[in-house]
Amino acid sequence: MHATLPLMRRFGFPAIRRARLETLQVNLGYKCNQTCVHCHVNAGPTRTELMSRDTIADVLAFLGVSGMRCLDVTGGAPELNPHFRELVLRTRELGVHVIDRCNLTILEEPGQEGLAEFLAAQRVEVVASLPCYLEDNVDRQRGKGVFAKSVRAILRLNALGYGIPATGLELNLVYNPQGASLPPPQAALEADYKRVLGERYGIAFNRLYTLANMPIQRFGSTLISKGQFNGYMALLHRAHRDENLETVMCRSLVSVDWLGYVYDCDFNQMLGLPLVVDGRKRVHLSELIGRDLEGNAIAVRDHCYGCTAGQGSSCGGALA
Ligand code: SF4
Ligand code: SF4
Repeated sequence: MHATLPLMRRFGFPAIRRARLETLQVNLGYKCNQTCVHCHVNAGPTRTELMSRDTIADVLAFLGVSGMRCLDVTGGAPELNPHFRELVLRTRELGVHVIDRCNLTILEEPGQEGLAEFLAAQRVEVVASLPCYLEDNVDRQRGKGVFAKSVRAILRLNALGYGIPATGLELNLVYNPQGASLPPPQAALEADYKRVLGERYGIAFNRLYTLANMPIQRFGSTLISKGQFNGYMALLHRAHRDENLETVMCRSLVSVDWLGYVYDCDFNQMLGLPLVVDGRKRVHLSELIGRDLEGNAIAVRDHCYGCTAGQGSSCGGALA
């Protein structure tokens, strides 16, 4: 795979600083029941990296004193971490909102019986990737049969009240373009998704988040191989909008890797670009318990234009 980090200093990205922390995003490990071609962490069934119970205790200790409002769990398939349910239960006891970045197909895996009911009982928000409303496109990106399984999973979640506005159980879907282009306007695409998935499959969901593809890891490497990297970077740079700088997710989120080390966001985690505190570049979450990061400089490079181009992109969809 081609390294993209050395190519991220051509344009220079405006300096930004942290605001008040609201969300802790935690990668529970790289084990996954799927092996999607675009996976930016190379997750799969044979990966063994999983966050330990001790590190999960650090996460809970941090949440307990930080006053943060949200824990956002990701992976791999975060539910495959043996401590997933304990982490969710204890976080909810703290009164903290939980987002599960769920691949949907995990609901049908052996050993995951009762998962959908557990998520509903704990009022966990489910955010799930569904890169298209057409079966062929999803199966090409995420594996054969994934679309059909995803539809079954959404119907199961709908039956528990997910995606039905009156219940407050949130089910949000995520779209990203198939290639080197910016996502279309979020509201219009959400309307299309709701119409097509509703008419064909009787599916309901709350919101569609459209995300730009980040020019890093496997996607960035593919762009380099195809000679499209510079063109895509120039597209992101041209489409940059200063007003998106106020709301990029790194201003209010920290990202934690499976070993407990912290980054300004998930993309920086994947690039190995750590959060820097007092000049130190490898800081463990346990060292930040009780520490206020407001005003801390954020580690930015040219990939950050993926967050500020056009309508903007964050783990909660468009910014504009
Ligand atoms: S479901 Fe997500 S974590 Fe798993 S392989 Fe696909 S993209 Fe990677
Ligand atoms: S990639 Fe986006 S979220 Fe991450 S540091 Fe850059 S602007 Fe912030």
